[in-house]
Amino acid sequence: MNKTIDIQAAVAIAAAEAMAAKTQGTFGVGGVLLDGAGNVLQSMHNNVVRQGLVFDPTAHGERQLVDWYFAERAKGTPLPPPGELTIVTSLDPCCMCTGAILAAGFNVVVAAPDVKAGINYDGAASFTALPVPLRAQAGRSFCYPAVRGATEYARAPSGAAPRSFFIGKSIHEATQALCSLVFEATSAQVMQLLNAGDDVQLRDPATLPSEHAVVRALRRRYPDALTYRCDPHAPDAGLAPFLQAAMEQDARDGGQGDAAALLDAFGNLLLCMPGQLARSLIRTPFMECTRQYAQLRYELMAGAEPALQEDIKRYLGHPKHGTFVLAMGPDDSAASFMTLGAYGSTMEGALPENNPAQFQYVRPAMAEDALLALCDAMPPLYRKLIRIRPRQVADRALIDALA
Ligand SMILES: [Zn+2]
Repeated sequence: MNKTIDIQAAVAIAAAEAMAAKTQGTFGVGGVLLDGAGNVLQSMHNNVVRQGLVFDPTAHGERQLVDWYFAERAKGTPLPPPGELTIVTSLDPCCMCTGAILAAGFNVVVAAPDVKAGINYDGAASFTALPVPLRAQAGRSFCYPAVRGATEYARAPSGAAPRSFFIGKSIHEATQALCSLVFEATSAQVMQLLNAGDDVQLRDPATLPSEHAVVRALRRRYPDALTYRCDPHAPDAGLAPFLQAAMEQDARDGGQGDAAALLDAFGNLLLCMPGQLARSLIRTPFMECTRQYAQLRYELMAGAEPALQEDIKRYLGHPKHGTFVLAMGPDDSAASFMTLGAYGSTMEGALPENNPAQFQYVRPAMAEDALLALCDAMPPLYRKLIRIRPRQVADRALIDALA
C-alpha cells in the first residue's frame, strides 16, 4: 500500500477547519474523512451556529461527515465501506458523534480532549461512558495518537493503533494546542447561545391566525402542527395517531418503525417526524425532529429585524421548555446513544427546573433502571449539567395505544 499522509498533516487540516468554525461563530471543531490509503475525501467544520443564530444543534463536524458519506453513496459515488475509512477530528467526539461513528462503523483519530462532553473525557481510553456492548468496538476504532513535547499538551498514545497507511503517527504539540485552544475559545459562548440565549416570555402559537408566518412555516414542515394539544408535558392518547402515522412512515423508509414528536410548553404538537434511514443510517427520528425544529426557527429568524426575532422566539420557544416524545425508548445500541447525545447537543445546558419530564418515551426498549444507569455513565456535560433522564409517558392509554 502507498502511504500518503501523516497523522500530523491530517490533524492540521482538521485544525484549519476548526479555525474556520470559530470564525463563523460556532464551536471551534473540524474534521477530515480519509480513505483506506489516507487520501482526503472530504473535510468539514462545525455548523451549529450561523449568523449568530442556532442553525442545527446536530451539525457537528463528525456527524456531518458521516451523513456526507451516506449521501454521496446514495448518489452512486463509489466509496469504500465505512470500516476502511477514518475520520480525523480536532476534538474528542461527543456522545452524539460517537454514536453516529459507531453506528456507521468508521475509524477515528482524535486530537484534543474534551473533558466535559468527549467520549474519552477521563483520558483512560476504556470508554466506560459507553453502554457495555459498544466499548470493545470503540477500543478497536478510536485512536488517540501520541503528542510529542514537554508541555501539558503532550501525551502517550492510547486507544486503537493508528491505521497502517499513516506515515508519521504522532501530532505536533503546537497543532494539538491549537485544536484545544480554538475549541476552548468558543465553547462557553456557543453553549450560552444554544441553551439560554433566548429566555423570553413564551406565547401560545395556537392563538395565532392560520395565515401567520409562524403557523405557515410550521405546517410546511409538518402539516398536522397545532392540531393536537394536551396538558403541558403530559402527552395522552390523543397523540397516538400522530405517532403511529410517523412510525409507519419510518418503517416504510427503512427504519425500525420509530417516531419523535416535539410538544411546546403549552402542550401543542409542533412536529412529529419519522427518520430518513434510507438516506443515511444515522438520520433517526429524533435527529430529524430536533434538526427540523432548529432549522424552522433559523429560517424564520435569519435576516429578520431584532423585534421580529424576539417575537418568533416567544411563539417557538427553546425545546427545553417543551417535551420530546419518542415512540420507542432508548436501548444500548449505538443509534440510541447518538439520540441521547443529540438530545444533549440540543440542550447544551441545564434543563429548566419546572420541566423535569422534558424527555419522554412511550414504548420502553430496556428496563428503566438500566436506562438511567446508562445515562448516569455519560460524560459530565450529560450527567451533571443537562442531567438526561428519559422517562416513560404517564398516560396508560397512550402506552396501550402503541403497545
Ligand atoms: Zn459531536
